[in-house]
Amino acid sequence: MLHKIVSVTPGKLLLREELDAYDPAAEPWQKQFARRYVHHSEMKGILNNIEDVNETVYDKFAVSVTPYMAQLMDRDDPHCPIRLQYLPTFHEEAKPGFATLLDELGEEGDTIPGTSVVHRYPRRVLFLVSNTCATLCRFCTRKRMVSRPSGSVHKDEIERSIDYIAGNKDIDDVLLSGGDPLTFDDDRLDYILGQIRSRAPHVRFLRIGSRMVVQLPTRVTPELCAVLEKHRVQMINIHINHPKEITPLLRERVKMIQKAGVMMGLQTVCLRGVNDNVEVMRELFMQAIEMGVRPYYVYSTDMVEGAHHFIVPHARMLALYEGLRGWISGPAVPTFIVDGLGGLGKLPIIPSYVREEVRPDGNGTTIKCRNYKGMEVEMPGLGVEFRVPSQSN
Ligand SMILES: *Cc1c(COP(=O)(O)O)cnc(C)c1O
Ligand code: SF4
Repeated sequence: MLHKIVSVTPGKLLLREELDAYDPAAEPWQKQFARRYVHHSEMKGILNNIEDVNETVYDKFAVSVTPYMAQLMDRDDPHCPIRLQYLPTFHEEAKPGFATLLDELGEEGDTIPGTSVVHRYPRRVLFLVSNTCATLCRFCTRKRMVSRPSGSVHKDEIERSIDYIAGNKDIDDVLLSGGDPLTFDDDRLDYILGQIRSRAPHVRFLRIGSRMVVQLPTRVTPELCAVLEKHRVQMINIHINHPKEITPLLRERVKMIQKAGVMMGLQTVCLRGVNDNVEVMRELFMQAIEMGVRPYYVYSTDMVEGAHHFIVPHARMLALYEGLRGWISGPAVPTFIVDGLGGLGKLPIIPSYVREEVRPDGNGTTIKCRNYKGMEVEMPGLGVEFRVPSQSN
């Protein structure tokens, strides 16, 4: 890999020529973290056609872009899929009378009081350890806490969360998320993972959700991988929405994580104008399996404030799924998910390919099938009427 020599002042914002010459792998991640652009006016120093958004945007959600991510942005095109994800637009400006939902998924209702543990499903919990990310996505579902001082996760809260997990023998799966758990330094992460492993031996599956791997790949170091391996973190789900986010540096660091024995999954948010396109999705998911990262979920954009313009109708999501299933490798096809309003939880959007119907004469059944190409076939059914037993539990 080519290492360019750059003389840039530590912590200083990079201007256009400096950014062009900047090698994101040439300085420790903490230093690059300190160089993030935090206002759209700062981005004017590096990109053209920056939208002059109203300052009210910042009351709701901060702006933050790593130099590495800024390098991936198209210099001129405001519709660049990376720019759309990270730069604020007029869509986010205050609209009088517009309904706002800051906790659309009702996570606060399922949060164990005094902790940052969301215990919604049986046997598994979401542990929100961090309240910040390296680069802030305009469609973030957790705007209520990410980058907001009022939503900061205190040390005491982390301790009480670990106590809850340790004291609840039913929990066998812990998912660390945030914000981004990798915004912590290695020691803090080592501590939290170590506490869970030593005090909660009933936890069988320990996983992390992180977008920092994608936004600031140099966060992944041999030291971090040693921590992951030491505590047997079994899975890391990274978040990528467009093939442009996959770079040689990302591939290199993903491999480093995989060598630590961690299974890797991909989460994607279905975003209008970014990836609501069969060709883009096919390419993204094929590139993911090429690097050994298994597409896991495609989420619909949640109805959080300032993200409405990204929402893709569910019917269109069904069509996108149908454009993948059968057309590309099976392991490259993720499950499409709508997160139900107010705590309903994850709802899979699954098209129906097989349907068994009672014959019009009431005599037996017919199975109606449709394959991925739309070919339709009818097959004789089982010939007996059967009922789905009522589910309890
Ligand atoms: C998504 C989520 C999980 C994990 O769900 P899986 O389908 O097992 O990946 C756990 N808890 C909450 C609250 C979640 O939103
Ligand atoms: S990485 Fe996730 S939690 Fe962080 S800003 Fe983006 S959507 Fe929000």
